[in-house]
Amino acid sequence: MEKVVITVDGPSGAGKGTLCHALAEKLGFDFLDSGALYRITALDAEKKNVSLDDETTLAEIARNLDIQFLPENGEIKVILEGENVGDQIRTAQAGQNASKIAAFPLVREALLARQRAFSTEKGLIADGRDMGTVVFPDAKIKLFLDASAEERTKRRVKQLQEKGFNANFDEILAEIKERDFRDRNRAVAPLVPAKDALLLDSTHLSIDDVIKQALYHIAQYI
Ligand code: C5P
Repeated sequence: MEKVVITVDGPSGAGKGTLCHALAEKLGFDFLDSGALYRITALDAEKKNVSLDDETTLAEIARNLDIQFLPENGEIKVILEGENVGDQIRTAQAGQNASKIAAFPLVREALLARQRAFSTEKGLIADGRDMGTVVFPDAKIKLFLDASAEERTKRRVKQLQEKGFNANFDEILAEIKERDFRDRNRAVAPLVPAKDALLLDSTHLSIDDVIKQALYHIAQYI
């Protein structure tokens, strides 16, 4: 049977995670959170006292990650060497570290086969930056979800405040812009829409509208 892959790429904070979870649930597909792999690699390196500049050792770490993604109550638990690292990989610092090591070609190459192995007969929603361009270039359906940096910052600030954290708009905007710049300008697998991707801009759309538009598009293929 044909393995259906739907790729969803875009910058951080555009709503990809929410969209992908909704699509995976509606379609009964598996879900690949490729960003988590970069975050876990950076975390594992830190735990092993490996410098985030040491490309060769980082690639070795990426290749040998001992990880499990366990679905639990609609969430996915991330286990690294037996330890639940869900909270540790979700900090802003973990995102910046992930984006730094993601610029290394050897690290990207080391994670390629692992990402492709997520594709099964059940169907896959692949969330990331280069899902439609590099990891699954032959995917039948490709989406690229964007939103202005200011709107993404607003959403992030709201999210943090709801969790009871302090959030400074200007600081978060600067962080988002820094990560965008790095992701869009790296030499290997930069963040760009695949030529055959449907572009969705969520700046002025609710997440429900984004999900509706995505499902409408997908329905033309499957
Ligand atoms: O999506 P998330 O914010 O978890 O990704 C963290 C970082 O990992 C991104 O800023 C990006 O640099 C990197 N990444 C990547 N390619 C992917 C997924 C994530 O380079 N497919």
